Amino acid sequence: MNKRGNDRTSRGYNGYHVTWSGKRVYLRSRLEFIIAKWCDIRHINYSLEDRIYNIDNKSYKPDFFIYDNNILKTVIEVKYDENDRKKYLKRFKQFFDDIGIKYIVFSLKHIKRIEKKYDISYYSEEWIKKSASIESNMRDNLNPHYGMLHSDETKRKIGKKTTERINDSEYKKYWKKRHEKAMSREEVKKSISKAVKKRFEDPEERLKLSMRSRKYDKKITTNRKCISCGSQFDVDMYYKNDNLIGIKYKDKDNYIIGKFCTNTCGVKYDKMVKKKAIKYLHTLVYKHMKNMKNREPMRKEFLSYCKDLGISGDIRRSFGTFKNIMEELNG
Ligand SMILES: [Zn+2]
Repeated sequence: MNKRGNDRTSRGYNGYHVTWSGKRVYLRSRLEFIIAKWCDIRHINYSLEDRIYNIDNKSYKPDFFIYDNNILKTVIEVKYDENDRKKYLKRFKQFFDDIGIKYIVFSLKHIKRIEKKYDISYYSEEWIKKSASIESNMRDNLNPHYGMLHSDETKRKIGKKTTERINDSEYKKYWKKRHEKAMSREEVKKSISKAVKKRFEDPEERLKLSMRSRKYDKKITTNRKCISCGSQFDVDMYYKNDNLIGIKYKDKDNYIIGKFCTNTCGVKYDKMVKKKAIKYLHTLVYKHMKNMKNREPMRKEFLSYCKDLGISGDIRRSFGTFKNIMEELNG
């Protein structure tokens, strides 16, 4: 099984691979890569060397673990030699049968068949070129794709659940829903009415409204920092017998309770927030496509995918240009 041989399909190549669902796995041979890719193509949830079994007082660590709804269903062992395949089946099959897990052992000839049937050879060549190395002790230096695809920040944002998303069509549904929620008029309306409601509930706002009818004996002008542009703006505070009875902003229509120096700044800030939202959505779509395809998506594909998801494909509003997406997300 540790034969290196002159055939490229034998063990010897090691490297990381990003699965269809965005998970990073470490593969120990081209044969393993083919099985991984085969699972990717069929949107199967898998991981490698998840568990160690104790069978007849010997520990055994199979290669692939296949899950369905987070339940382990199948274990796959990848062997080079047909003789090894038979040996493994004889030794372990009964054990897995007994615990209700399907046990499969593939050898070179099966895997070659899979490679051909699913047209995987291009990908395995690419994987060897880009990700794999013949050295086996370079594990941590072998991650040209890592970080590029999933920085810690992105991981945090996407969250555990979505990284384990089941398949592409469900992913699309998920985003459609999420996007609709974020961008729908209803949501915007809701947030506006919330702001209006807040305006009447906020003690400062109430003071502002009632100020006119009250008589004050002291006025103090204080400074506030605009959360949009950072500039200082004046707030007049009115007192009677040292009790605050009213507040006035210079910009009379300062509609978001004293947070912006002017309404223009408020509007600018809203736009910026929207831009951020689109940028965020575009980032997720781009990364997802890249994981699915195991290559950079093309502009056209990206746009039609956005369309499918019901997300604005207006790149000018997020990254500016498509090239910028690639550069920003890969750099
Ligand atoms: Zn401002």
